[in-house]
Amino acid sequence: MTTIIDGNEVADQIQSEVSTCVDTLRDDGVTPGLATVLMSDDGASETYVSMKQRTCEELGIESFHHEIDPDEPAEVLFDRIDELNEDPAVHGILVQMPVPDHVEKRAVLERIDPVKDVDGFHPENVGKLVAGNARYKPCTPHGVQKMLAAYDIETEGRDAVVVGRSDIVGKPMANLFIQRDDGGNATTTVCHSRTDDLAAKTREADILVAAAGVPEMIDGEMVGEGATVVDVGINRVDADNEKGYELVGDVDFESAKEKASAITPVPGGVGPLTIAMLMYNTVKGASLQSGVPVDLP
Ligand code: NAD
Repeated sequence: MTTIIDGNEVADQIQSEVSTCVDTLRDDGVTPGLATVLMSDDGASETYVSMKQRTCEELGIESFHHEIDPDEPAEVLFDRIDELNEDPAVHGILVQMPVPDHVEKRAVLERIDPVKDVDGFHPENVGKLVAGNARYKPCTPHGVQKMLAAYDIETEGRDAVVVGRSDIVGKPMANLFIQRDDGGNATTTVCHSRTDDLAAKTREADILVAAAGVPEMIDGEMVGEGATVVDVGINRVDADNEKGYELVGDVDFESAKEKASAITPVPGGVGPLTIAMLMYNTVKGASLQSGVPVDLP
């Protein structure tokens, strides 16, 4: 029997523990605050930001939303980030990607005070993660780790294969897997668009993480018997329904399920964990900045 991993259930559990930490902070006069900044007309980005705001509200985290017209010059965004860096009510700053082409993404990430960089993308935080001294683990790969732990799926000594080498998923996922830490100690292979014979690599995986952004590219033929398959992909594909699209992962769920011992669905797999870990990081930020200790899971 293949275990279908329930990301909503794991996320709910984490959020309830994070909510207890919010209460601890609030009892000490600290209300955790997350600022979201959207500089885009992209529908998916708007949806992600509103989901993040809604979860903040549910957990008692204050959310401050800022929208900047995508036609404005980059300086408008940078000035806004500077203000948020200075604002003591804001413990976490998230600039929703993508930003417009005339705004240099790297400059945006470097502008955010690393202590408020709850995405964990500032070079200082990337460095700390790689050095094994993470301040903020990036939300999606951290969520994958929590999900594996919740299902008692051991990483130590096992072969993990990550498909994708992006700065937000693939690279930090690999970095977490190789740490001498819980959820790490895995022998880790990173595959990408230039990998020769991808299937030969993926079939070797005990834990296969798909984060390529290519709809259903990993099928059952590419999955080893008994592997754990984690599908990070969220891809909009045309569909004959009211919205005109549906969401599919990077994994062909039906064929991969035949081989896997455990697998995440899309939706309802990794997605909810990403938001839960953003809340986690925001509370961690509030604790670090206020000096009020919390007991995060
Ligand atoms: P990206 O486009 O930045 O990176 C994709 C990576 O996949 C690249 O490193 C590329 O080398 C690799 N790749 C592309 N095609 C490949 C192929 N045919 N074979 C092997 N490797 C290939 O994407 P990203 O931001 O890392 O996101 C990946 C997917 O995860 C997207 O579908 C995205 O929407 C989704 N995502 C989901 C969450 C979540 O919360 N579940 C969070 C972030 C991203």
